[in-house]
Amino acid sequence: MSLKEKYPVYLYNTLTKEKELFEPIHKESVGMYVCGPTVYSDVHLGNIRTFLSFDVIYRYLTYLGYKVRYVRNITDVGHLVSDADEGEDKIARKARLEQLEPMEVVQQYTNGFHQVLEMFNLLPPNIEPCATGHIMEQISMVQDLLEKGMAYEVNGSVYFDVTKYNEKYDYGKLSGRKIEELMESGRALDSQDEKRNKIDFALWKKASPSHIMRWNSPWGDGFPGWHLECTVMSTKYLGETFDIHGGGMDLIFPHHECEIAQSVGSTGKEPVKYWLHSNMLTVNGQKMSKSLGNSFLPGQLISGDHELLDKGYNPMVVRFFMLQSHYSSTLDFSNEALTAAEKGYKRLVEGIKISKTLQHSEGNVDGDLEEKVKNAIDQLFTNLGDDFNTAKALAVLFEMTTWMNNFKTGHMKSTGLSSSTFNDLITHYQGFFYDVLGLKEENEGNNQLLDGVIDVLIKLRLDAKAGKNYELSDKIRDDLKQIGVTLKDSKEGTEYSID
Ligand code: AMP
Ligand code: ZN
Repeated sequence: MSLKEKYPVYLYNTLTKEKELFEPIHKESVGMYVCGPTVYSDVHLGNIRTFLSFDVIYRYLTYLGYKVRYVRNITDVGHLVSDADEGEDKIARKARLEQLEPMEVVQQYTNGFHQVLEMFNLLPPNIEPCATGHIMEQISMVQDLLEKGMAYEVNGSVYFDVTKYNEKYDYGKLSGRKIEELMESGRALDSQDEKRNKIDFALWKKASPSHIMRWNSPWGDGFPGWHLECTVMSTKYLGETFDIHGGGMDLIFPHHECEIAQSVGSTGKEPVKYWLHSNMLTVNGQKMSKSLGNSFLPGQLISGDHELLDKGYNPMVVRFFMLQSHYSSTLDFSNEALTAAEKGYKRLVEGIKISKTLQHSEGNVDGDLEEKVKNAIDQLFTNLGDDFNTAKALAVLFEMTTWMNNFKTGHMKSTGLSSSTFNDLITHYQGFFYDVLGLKEENEGNNQLLDGVIDVLIKLRLDAKAGKNYELSDKIRDDLKQIGVTLKDSKEGTEYSID
């Protein structure tokens, strides 16, 4: 029996509000789409938590033997400052302020995003499409929605007609919002006069003369709406109906609600079988966000250069810290929590190191222990299979760590296990640590890690320079100097030395 047959997965579906048995549309393969970042600023730890939650889901489904196609987009146009249909494009705004080409902004923060995810050991997706690369497809979908009477054009902009859609389908079913209440609440906005109803949302927006990110369309020069891009890219790469769609909980409304409306309005089919949403990383109970000024950048975490931190932490400690909670619960970030996580992480790493030195020696099989170990292995799978409960899986890894210590100290003359159970234990103990939870053994004084981290900072500094952000590039150099790391630039590149 294969692992995926032996260990069913149950997941909480935001759409049905129930924990359901996971049955992918195609038996062997899984299609998963996760909303990626809008690349107009550095990613903070809150963003990383969301991407990390889906990284574990991707890893576990792969571990079970599914062939997963994981698509995570880059939003490089259409996400407006208001998170709705008003205001400047976030990227165009940054480009204007920094006097850069919008695509320079996009490149700089996409590079930074990739470096940070690598630092936290997130696997890259199989496809990483960007919105500006799919303008033609977005225009086609707008045309299709117009033909189906689900959208209307006004002054070069096209809006989705929510009321019309709701006559036939159910707008609000994902978020639980009622259309009547939505009609009453909310303020009147600029484009209000253009819209038939204020809950309608833009599929295509006319570009004002000063708007720099613009494309030609049947409705004149304009740019696509933020919700449309995800619908178009997920459909293109995963089909009209696919298995899993994920993102942070803050995207349920309006973003994901609108994605459903666009797909159903166009194809008549439900686009997604399972909607998964991860909860927020908070600081003192408040959502971590750039605009609230309570966000941490990964560099600050490593250097410890932040008022809430006593010292710097290894990215693997942070990863471990995040895995200690269930993805659907909020997680509060604090120095104390990180210090506790560091202890736990180190203990686990010791166990992993021991596990690599152990040899099985034939001896009497201790029936009790054999049973316990088999159960623990099952528990690893059933915990991950229970809506990806990484916290409980870590608890099992700790139980296994105690056995590793016992085996090592010869506490037990032989392991007391049959060789097949011993091999299974080592395989899955290490398999869950490395492959499923995505942890690595790195400790202080590990030069490889230090090399890696400083390389990331050197690259960030280069990106900052390329983006003419000399204030940031100098800050990186000066802050490193302060902790005793000197950067030396030469034709060959940048090297570092430690005082
Ligand atoms: P954005 O670039 O703002 O679209 O955000 C990228 C992703 O990060 C989205 O899926 C958000 O839901 C998620 N996100 C933003 N802030 C937080 C936070 N404090 N905790 C967890 N996820 C977050
Ligand atoms: Zn999206």
